[in-house]
Amino acid sequence: MTKLIYDADIDASALDGQTVAVIGYGSQGEAHARNLAESGVDVVVGLRPDSTSAERAREAGLEVTDAASATKRANVVMVLVPDTAAPGVYHGEIEPNLQDGALLMFAHGFNIHFGEVDPPGGIDVGMVAPKGPGHLVRRLYEGGGGVPALFAVHREATGSARTRTLAYARGIGAGRAGILETTFAEETETDLFGEQAVLCGGVTSLVQAGFETLVDAGYQPELAYFETMHELKLIVDLMYQGGMQYMRYSISDTAEYGDYVSGPRIVNAETRAEMKRILTEIQDGTFAKRWIEEGRRGAPEFKRMRAENAGSRLEEVGAELRSHMAFIGPKQAPDGWADGNRRTADAPSGEVRS
Ligand code: NAD
Ligand code: MG
Repeated sequence: MTKLIYDADIDASALDGQTVAVIGYGSQGEAHARNLAESGVDVVVGLRPDSTSAERAREAGLEVTDAASATKRANVVMVLVPDTAAPGVYHGEIEPNLQDGALLMFAHGFNIHFGEVDPPGGIDVGMVAPKGPGHLVRRLYEGGGGVPALFAVHREATGSARTRTLAYARGIGAGRAGILETTFAEETETDLFGEQAVLCGGVTSLVQAGFETLVDAGYQPELAYFETMHELKLIVDLMYQGGMQYMRYSISDTAEYGDYVSGPRIVNAETRAEMKRILTEIQDGTFAKRWIEEGRRGAPEFKRMRAENAGSRLEEVGAELRSHMAFIGPKQAPDGWADGNRRTADAPSGEVRS
């Protein structure tokens, strides 16, 4: 098994006397900036002058300036703006202001791997990608824990890219949970595949299809919601804590038998072949090209699909049922989100973003 890296293996002094600029103060940015500052690292936050997050950052005791000034002062620059905005911010404000020997960091390999950002020689390039949403990176750190992270060095120019990247990972609390070394290619391809085939795309399509199958057959939509969506969390929690085996131990023998005989009919040879095609399109850059071009056109297809999905029967029924379950902490996307009235970049902190 691959050896994971923990706090004790990391030299925190690699960031002594260094200033870290955190560019962006969204889901990850807020968590990284606050955790690093509390770990004793000198942090400056770089934001757009009109940013709605600046006040929140100042209230947390952080120094805030624009991305260009933050970069000028920093030895380490972590880019935590949305991946679609990163090339623009990088070319406009970061690259012209990078210090010699600076370490440029990312929390996802997309833009480096697909060549949208190509830093000049002499600049170290590293990655720390927490395997969890930003609000957990913050909350677990506050409680003495941390979210595991992937780390990678794309370019070792100064001889300190690796030690500084690891010290950064330690500063946000990842070394308390475990840090796994990877490459920009592996992180990017597996991350895109996971969210498309399993975590986001796979699960939502499975739930939607199960819900519609029951409702179309004349069963009550409320019952279909409980069965295909609400209970999903309870099952996933068991898998999270004890693997498939513990989940199967906890459910009835009837459910377990049905799991074995019917599961492979849902995720069958055809599904697996499609998974392979999805992975190939990620590896050969087809997906990245499509998404980058979509972004350049102002994301019309993306916005249309978002609006269509937001109005589904499953969503309507679910919102009503969740409003009676205060104990689960019901949440909803900000007003106008699905109609594109609200810029993704202004998402309030603590939201789960993938
Ligand atoms: P986000 O959308 O939550 O936040 C982005 C922030 O960037 C905004 O709050 C805003 O402060 C700032 N911003 C937006 N446009 C800007 C611009 N043009 N100039 C300057 N600042 C701007 O983003 P996020 O989800 O925290 O993602 C940041 C990075 O972290 C991405 O590379 C993402 O892939 C990665 N990542 C995210 C998660 C997650 O769970 N959210 C997990 C792992 C890695
Ligand atoms: Mg992901």
